[in-house]
Amino acid sequence: MLLKTSASVPIATRSFSSIQSTLAGTWLNVVTPCYLLPMPSDATKEALRAFVAARDWDQFHTPENLAKSIAIEASELLECYQWTSTPDQQRVEEELADVVTYCIHLANKLGVDLDDIVMRKLESTAKKYPVELAKGRMTKYTELSKE
Ligand SMILES: [Mg+2]
Repeated sequence: MLLKTSASVPIATRSFSSIQSTLAGTWLNVVTPCYLLPMPSDATKEALRAFVAARDWDQFHTPENLAKSIAIEASELLECYQWTSTPDQQRVEEELADVVTYCIHLANKLGVDLDDIVMRKLESTAKKYPVELAKGRMTKYTELSKE
């Protein structure tokens, strides 16, 4: 299990404020304080909302269009590495920002909390890739126990 409370309730299934309360004062709070910040920040979410509202673009932000945009921007990010292992850092950052921006828009459109879904997925992935089998290896989880 990735993270458990004393009551054995998976943290990933709990609200962000509940997670904040649980981790306050623990080593995780000290070691990774950024974990306790909402993802993205309220300021970033408001800036994105205002940007879209000012342009009346929400009408175009269907889940399908946003999912397509994530894939397109991910391709542009990948393109930065085409034929080179030393891409232009500024361009990488811009394309990464595009991917994240569309992910935020899609999460908002679907009414899901990014912290919650990332933590739930992390817990699921941790079960697929137990440390004792996966540490230092890039083997797909379906092949881990066969080696
Ligand atoms: Mg782009």
